[in-house]
Amino acid sequence: MQIHVEKFGGASINSAKAIRNVVDILNAEPKKRVVVVSAMGKTTNALEKLVKARFEKRGVDTKTLNWLKDYHFGIIDELFGDSASMIKGYVCSIFDRIETQLLSDNGEAYDKFYDTVVSCGEELSSRIISAYLSYKSVEHKFLWAFDFIQTDDCFRQANVDWEQSEALINQYVAVALQNYDLVLTQGYIGGTDDGQTKTTLGREGSDYTAAILSYCLNAVDCTIWKDVEGLLNADPKRMATTTKLNAIPYQEAIELAYYGATIIHPKTIKPLENRSIPLYVKSFSNPQQSGSCICHCDDMSPLVPSYIFKDNQVLLSLLPRDFSFIAEQNISAIFAILAQHNVKVNLMQNSAISLSVCFDDCEVLKPLIKSLQVYYKVHYNRNLQLITVRHYSEQAISEVVSEPLIMVEQRSRVTAQFLVRTE
Ligand code: ASP
Ligand code: MG
Repeated sequence: MQIHVEKFGGASINSAKAIRNVVDILNAEPKKRVVVVSAMGKTTNALEKLVKARFEKRGVDTKTLNWLKDYHFGIIDELFGDSASMIKGYVCSIFDRIETQLLSDNGEAYDKFYDTVVSCGEELSSRIISAYLSYKSVEHKFLWAFDFIQTDDCFRQANVDWEQSEALINQYVAVALQNYDLVLTQGYIGGTDDGQTKTTLGREGSDYTAAILSYCLNAVDCTIWKDVEGLLNADPKRMATTTKLNAIPYQEAIELAYYGATIIHPKTIKPLENRSIPLYVKSFSNPQQSGSCICHCDDMSPLVPSYIFKDNQVLLSLLPRDFSFIAEQNISAIFAILAQHNVKVNLMQNSAISLSVCFDDCEVLKPLIKSLQVYYKVHYNRNLQLITVRHYSEQAISEVVSEPLIMVEQRSRVTAQFLVRTE
């Protein structure tokens, strides 16, 4: 069986018009496919706000909840007109459940509660899209990802149990594909092995779901439909001119994601690489265009510099109080403290008696500094930007880096990184 996996993200299903376009894309090319959908538009952010308000003892954030309801019911009205009553019933019951959860206070931990509520975004979108497919007489099988993406209970960042998930995907999805050309399911969400508890795979995790399904079904290819023409060599919000990358080796894609390119969820590439499944990134507004392909190829084409910007960086410089050298013992002690605080280092540099590390600025900065100050003198700078240039040239660097603002600079054969002040 030749199976294709396709993921439609929030922007591709953010309005009635967008959802009609998805159906057009599916109808344009009949094939056996699993379609993975995210929550519509900015739904996940709104659900996050509801959870936060509830935990800050602000009760139900009715403004946000009403906005969410109006948004979904508005789309339903536009899609179904007079035939909306059944899907409205479903959607009402999901909103009732959300409201009951927000009003309850059974002492559940934040992250677990978050997953229960935030996973409703994908429930809503997939229910509405499934109803619309039926309304348009597109035969399909609707499946809950909770049933086959099995994870541990590390809420908000759940880890996939690959063995169990592969068996369940074969049991649910592969079997459904024997009878249907189209299976519709949700991205981003999963469940633990008790069959009750909902989990999520980390923000923007729908790409990852598509990759998991592709791997377990040994798909021919995996396509991610986006609001850009493909993978670009820089974020168009940051640079006036960008170049579309046509072909990207898996390894290069992993490197780009590692340095902070946000277009694809970083966990997505590995499962696809492991089974040599090409990943296409295509524009849902121009589905005929070729987009970009991440695959086993020798080199990136075209081979142009790529630029990645990471804002809100902090640089911490540590000097041992006893004036000892920065050697293996000090470095491993420092990294143990960083790991305790869950800090992921984006760049490091050391000299004889000092070590500097750069990471995303966050709430742990203060407690981290406190722990480090016991053994080290600590200096820090905030509001920095980390600029990474892959396949750099001097010309490429000069386009994005201004010499006097550089605080740390590092170059390898392929990658140049600059930590700069933002004045
Ligand atoms: N809806 C989720 C999010 O916004 C997952 C996704 O879109 O990939 O993070
Ligand atoms: Mg998304």
